[in-house]
Amino acid sequence: MRARLVILCVVSVAAVLLIASPSPAGSSAGLKAGAARIDITPEKPVNMSGYAARKDLSTGVHDPLSARAVAFEVGGKRLVLISTDIIGYYEDVANYMRKALMAEFNLQPSELFLAGIHTHAAPTPTLNRERAHANNVEYTEGLKPKLIEVVRKALANMEPAKLGLGVGSCPVGGNRRELRVANNGESSVVLGRNPYGTTDKEVLVMKVAKADGAPMAVLFDYATHGTSLGTANLTISGDVPGLAEQFVEKILGSDVIAPIFVGASGNIDPWFRVLPGFNEEPGWVPEPVLLGTFLGEEVVHVYRAINQTQSADKIATNFVTLQLPAKPPEADSKEKKRESVPLNVTVARLGDVAFVGLGAEVFTEIGMAIKAGSPCPHTFVITHCNGAASYLPTKEVYVQDGYEVKTSPFSPQAAEIVVRESIRLLHGL
Ligand SMILES: [Zn+2]
Repeated sequence: MRARLVILCVVSVAAVLLIASPSPAGSSAGLKAGAARIDITPEKPVNMSGYAARKDLSTGVHDPLSARAVAFEVGGKRLVLISTDIIGYYEDVANYMRKALMAEFNLQPSELFLAGIHTHAAPTPTLNRERAHANNVEYTEGLKPKLIEVVRKALANMEPAKLGLGVGSCPVGGNRRELRVANNGESSVVLGRNPYGTTDKEVLVMKVAKADGAPMAVLFDYATHGTSLGTANLTISGDVPGLAEQFVEKILGSDVIAPIFVGASGNIDPWFRVLPGFNEEPGWVPEPVLLGTFLGEEVVHVYRAINQTQSADKIATNFVTLQLPAKPPEADSKEKKRESVPLNVTVARLGDVAFVGLGAEVFTEIGMAIKAGSPCPHTFVITHCNGAASYLPTKEVYVQDGYEVKTSPFSPQAAEIVVRESIRLLHGL
């Protein structure tokens, strides 16, 4: 009994010492991080994503596409975040890439956030040999070893690290659900500009610094579609989100990896679109470059104001596939009625910071509700992550209809379930 008491006392003294003793200057108390970037610009002409009516192959490259990986580790538990300058990973492609990455690096499904930046000026990723252009299948197959390589580099680069967070705001994205009323009084919602619609303008910035304070990576989260180049564009580009990444890396130096993670942007477009493509005439700044610069400048501004960094004592993760209620097919449709539609939700906690990866294009209100209910002061809501289950609108907009509601496979109740379950999963970490 006495021996047990002594042991208990020793253990509790050790525990108090552990809590009380500050970590030595420059040490990171166990957090390690690494980052890497790899070029993924297509070498051959490809079909491009995002607009069903655009059939022609790409005709050139305006700016390069990259995949950026950031890896974290605390006490053997890892978290790998990948941002890819493509539209996103549709189900079979997401599984194909994720399986390869998880097998290669022995990652759990919840330890991998594989996201696209949703640029509409990049190749359509596909493995469908019968229906897709051969160059697109070749591109997609070639992307797999590149993702493996960029993660390998990020893991190999890991060293003691510290994190700092900052928040800014940017007006580049705007609510795109514009209400139009025709002469006969009938109203409809079109993809346009709605200055009164909800728009999450938060720019969340995470600085990942080496033990000596030198920057290693700058992760940022912002909600907008990458559609500034519009439907007629045939030029490869990261569009607004990709150009913002390039701007940040240009300013901070190319050894700093600056991945964007696209927030809840299902109903958010860049406020401006190009008039005549990438016009480079003297005195003309192409709109996507201008908007990417605005966003990138805000990231740099927030980054420069981060004057405190700290370690993280824990990584916790979870991954679930929600089965959400499906929308019944239209009366004249030949589609079969589905009971449910799967949506992947990946959550992680890294110290004080939360990550919520959603395999769909969720409305901006959904991301804001998740942030508001999150137990962490800062939450990265990441869409187009670990899957792509199309649009997830809020319940209220189903009566208005519009493009996202028409194309969504989900019933009006689905959004509330995603918000509730995401917050519940975060609280469980
Ligand atoms: Zn979209």
